[in-house]
Amino acid sequence: MSEQNYQPETLAVHGGTVRSQFGEHSEALFLTSSFVFENAAQAAARFIGEQPGNIYSRFTNPTVTMFEERLAAMEGAEQCVATASGMSAILACVMGLLKAGDHIVASQSIFGASVNLFNNVIGKFGVATTYVSATDVSEWQAAVRPNTRLLFLETPSNPLTEISDIAAVASVAKGCGALLAVDNCFCTPILQRPLDLGADIVIQSATKYIDGQGRVLGGAVLGSRKNMEGVYGFLRTAGPTMSAFNAWVLLKGLETLKLRMDAHSANALELARWLEAQPNVARVFYPGLPSHPQHKLALRQQKTGGGIVSFEVASSPGCGKAAAWRVIDNTRLLSITANLGDTKTTITHPATTTHARISPEARAAAGITDGLIRIAVGLEAVVDIQADLARGLNK
Ligand SMILES: *Cc1c(COP(=O)(O)O)cnc(C)c1O
Repeated sequence: MSEQNYQPETLAVHGGTVRSQFGEHSEALFLTSSFVFENAAQAAARFIGEQPGNIYSRFTNPTVTMFEERLAAMEGAEQCVATASGMSAILACVMGLLKAGDHIVASQSIFGASVNLFNNVIGKFGVATTYVSATDVSEWQAAVRPNTRLLFLETPSNPLTEISDIAAVASVAKGCGALLAVDNCFCTPILQRPLDLGADIVIQSATKYIDGQGRVLGGAVLGSRKNMEGVYGFLRTAGPTMSAFNAWVLLKGLETLKLRMDAHSANALELARWLEAQPNVARVFYPGLPSHPQHKLALRQQKTGGGIVSFEVASSPGCGKAAAWRVIDNTRLLSITANLGDTKTTITHPATTTHARISPEARAAAGITDGLIRIAVGLEAVVDIQADLARGLNK
């Protein structure tokens, strides 16, 4: 489907090629590792790229292609390259576009595994990373070096929902000839389209909202055909590609993404407002609340505040962890897990799980206090989520 002016919910259902020669109505699952050629000449033409067509599922697979075309239409990208997970999307982006001696500037408020990847994997191959404030654009400008090739951010951030100004960081990138990559996992293209704001590359962990039901891992890198050439080249050779089965599950996830993101967002806003009114809650972090420091920027950049709400349980000094654990351990409905973007609401204590390996000083500097709780709001009735949290809050 080539029409570019359809609304997102239409693209979510019809975007990309939807059927094979058999005319099936629901997208088909092609479980095959390789493809057969009509003759030797056709094989030769496919291998040297003279004739388009599938060769081997590490290179392309029709179900994966359907997922890629649909997500590309939704993000407004020329090309999408699907990967085995969100982390392999970030790896492929760096391996495909950078070389030894290049430099990355990244927000300090990115996913923990991304920091680990930059410092301990990519760092070994001579690509250094400098971390800067998610919200202070002047720090990005000051960190740029002559060899800076990639700027990398994630907005809203995890778990404090800090908002980075994508358009402002994009102009820093343009000014120094670097590329801006945005990890769009928390918003998905339904709530935010970074390429429209000047970013060059979008990263997705499809494991989260795109699947939305906690079933499979997946990821994607999106951008111009020119930038995706190296990314695809790396994947085709190194192999962390998306499986056909996962692509099929994720295609079905895309079809309901708009409905789910709207419902996650509405629930999150209602829960955030309720939390703000609770006497035993010291502070609520949610971009959709007027009390959020970047509320105006969030309204400009995203369609809604999204589905992630964090809050600090009120406690006496030194008792934050006990207070937060009391809330978590008194839930019956919510899932105590670090995953997010699921129909089921999840509850996490960042200081002792996702951010436990960071030193207490660095954690304090990042604002991740012992009393902080992160909620990835699911699709249950908000009153039931509130009752589950109230049990521990009121103890
Ligand atoms: C989960 C997550 C990732 C990594 O994705 P996987 O699919 O788990 O590899 C990257 N970025 C963000 C913001 C995430 O939440």
